[in-house]
Amino acid sequence: MKKDKILIIGACGQIGVELTLALRKIYGGANVVASDLREEHELLKGTGPYVSLDVMNKEMLHVLVIRHNITQVYLLAAILSATGEKNPLLAWHINMQSLLNVLDIAKEENLDKVYWPSSIAVFGPNSPKENTPQHTTIEPATVYGISKFAGERWCEYYHRHYGVDVRSLRYPGLISYKSAPGGGTTDYAIEIFHDALEHKQYTCFLSENTYLPMMYMPDAIRATIELMEADQQQISVRSSYNLGAMSFSPSEIGNEIKKHVPAFVMDYAPDYRQQIADSWPKSIDDSQARADWGWKPEYDLPKMVKDMLEHL
Ligand code: NAD
Repeated sequence: MKKDKILIIGACGQIGVELTLALRKIYGGANVVASDLREEHELLKGTGPYVSLDVMNKEMLHVLVIRHNITQVYLLAAILSATGEKNPLLAWHINMQSLLNVLDIAKEENLDKVYWPSSIAVFGPNSPKENTPQHTTIEPATVYGISKFAGERWCEYYHRHYGVDVRSLRYPGLISYKSAPGGGTTDYAIEIFHDALEHKQYTCFLSENTYLPMMYMPDAIRATIELMEADQQQISVRSSYNLGAMSFSPSEIGNEIKKHVPAFVMDYAPDYRQQIADSWPKSIDDSQARADWGWKPEYDLPKMVKDMLEHL
């Protein structure tokens, strides 16, 4: 068992629940402190310590880090893309201040490592759409993307100037069944499974040919842990790594689900989220992550759809 003491902020969200459970398996339940604004998630109960925390309260966060002898922080609290567009200033405030609070405490307390996810939302309408490279035009069109891009710059800054070992991944849309999604533009790829099973029908809020980069949650969790466990020398990107697995459109995932649920039908009613999706890449070049720390996804569309349907 390793000696690290980990704090997860935003542990009750779509990624937080699964990441907390995975880290508790590796480090031992008692060494992974889960925290969130919300009540403890059902799946976390009895698996390790839980504290109520508002990451915006820097003093409270600082006390928590000292009291629990925290050595690593995973910051997952954020306002996501679709929700962010409804309240841009709130999204900017929460996404930026939470990160600055964590980075600054990491610097002051000399923490071993910090993890903070960025997103494909950093790319904007002027970025190349196919196989979007690690380094390219980055002009995000959403407040969420702007906050992620600024956050990446802050991560690199804290690493370069203060030696904070902060690591980051630009997650694509994440698909999972254990905990509900939190208001992103790729949430359709989760809703579609629930509606296919319950109603045999789904009305998609994106148009049928909207291709977006996606990933199944087990791959995202493994990527996160592999990045955090990599040697310092393997990490050449201190802003955030491109990370890819698969790319599909609503009609492609619909057809894949239909192979297992023959009665399933789909129609389309694009809303404000179409514009967000249209500003994002269709697919991602993650060759830097593959070369630096050996990233390799396991799940493609058919394998993911089969596994989702088996678990729901
Ligand atoms: P989520 O919305 O499901 O979970 C976020 C959690 O943070 C929630 O449980 C929420 O209660 C908590 N939270 C919000 N404000 C807080 C505060 N002030 N103090 C403490 N906790 C607070 O989000 P998620 O999908 O799990 O995403 C986690 C991270 O990954 C975010 O940074 C997000 O931008 C990033 N990301 C997610 C996806 C995806 O598809 N899910 C894709 C790209 C990037």
